[in-house]
Amino acid sequence: MNCNMASIAENINSLKKQVPENVQLIAVSKTKPPALLLEAYASGQRLFGENYVQELTEKHAVLPDDIEWHFIGHLQSNKVKYIAPFVHWIHGVDSLRLLREISKQASKHNRIIHCMLQVHIASEESKFGFSADEIRQECSLFDASEFPNIALCGLMGMASFTTDVDVIRSEFNHLKTLFDELQHGPFQHVRTFTALSMGMSSDWPIAVEEGSTMIRVGSAIFGTRN
Ligand SMILES: *Cc1c(COP(=O)(O)O)cnc(C)c1O
Repeated sequence: MNCNMASIAENINSLKKQVPENVQLIAVSKTKPPALLLEAYASGQRLFGENYVQELTEKHAVLPDDIEWHFIGHLQSNKVKYIAPFVHWIHGVDSLRLLREISKQASKHNRIIHCMLQVHIASEESKFGFSADEIRQECSLFDASEFPNIALCGLMGMASFTTDVDVIRSEFNHLKTLFDELQHGPFQHVRTFTALSMGMSSDWPIAVEEGSTMIRVGSAIFGTRN
């Protein structure tokens, strides 16, 4: 798992060879300095994921304009305004209230922001994300016309922190099943509802087998974090 020995370019090229074409690779660069993001950029990487609002705005200010920024952390409503001018994707939306705020802030900049609803699939306790039942309920109330500056694109989830691959596979499988249910049910008229963000450095191959369309990979590209 420790990839510090290989260069960032080597890690990216090796991942790109393994990841199927229909799956997007998001380079998770939290805590890493801009110079390392530029190394990834130089090898063709354009999708970057960040977890912290201030760190993201600082990096956005100094890095190339054609980077597509993905916010993957927990987002507080009062901080949406700082990233709304430029962020492309927000993966971890965990309430319709937050979705409403994102739409409002995006409208001030005449932008559409791609959003994914976070679902809590791991066995561990977590404050963040909808349960499957909560999301079914919210979906039944969902009215796209209330969110004119949002493209609702799919679901995001994180598997348990475990080495038990059967547990991980079954959690990803549950998320994919829920995604299919919503895509063919309450969201069948939401044409953008096509993305499933699941899989990180340690579990992305399982996530891809289970139907992921976006993997969020940090340490396998940039090395372990402190
Ligand atoms: C940090 C993080 C990742 C990347 O984790 P790695 O194990 O370094 O690949 C992916 N998704 C989220 C939500 C994260 O916070």
